[in-house]
Amino acid sequence: MLRKSYAVQFKGTVERQSEAISLVERPGDVVLVERGVPRAFVMKCPDGCGDVLTVNLDSRAGPAWRFYQREDGLTLFPSVWRDTGCGAHFIVWDDTIHWTNDSWALRRDPSLEAAVEACLTDELVSFVDIAAALDEVPWSVLDACRSLVDGGRAIEGAEPNRASFRLARA
Ligand SMILES: [Zn+2]
Repeated sequence: MLRKSYAVQFKGTVERQSEAISLVERPGDVVLVERGVPRAFVMKCPDGCGDVLTVNLDSRAGPAWRFYQREDGLTLFPSVWRDTGCGAHFIVWDDTIHWTNDSWALRRDPSLEAAVEACLTDELVSFVDIAAALDEVPWSVLDACRSLVDGGRAIEGAEPNRASFRLARA
């Protein structure tokens, strides 16, 4: 089992899932299936089990992940958690596989942290809602929230409000 963070390998965009499956060869290889709009994200399971995973991106076809293709790379939200086969649970954020959302080192992006801090109030708010308000990748906003907590400027809620944040001031 592979359990370190590593970069995905983007193998291109195709129109059909069958074409995508033939293009993913190694763990972390990904292909975007797009016909007009992004339909699916096909990837060789990043833990090395050999399975090919299809992540639905089209909400008309059922529960769908959000897909971001930005300057810093490809991102999926939320995490991918297989309920069959190897059971792999991972995140794709800016072209990188992370095994849980606790496993990454804080990025310390001061401009994003300032934007996130400006969204915080005395009430707990989910990082997902902050990301939507800022049109930012949710994992980047979660990272910024944790950096603010680390710096004493924000407080994270306790269960069941983990991943929700408020200003640290009294
Ligand atoms: Zn696997």
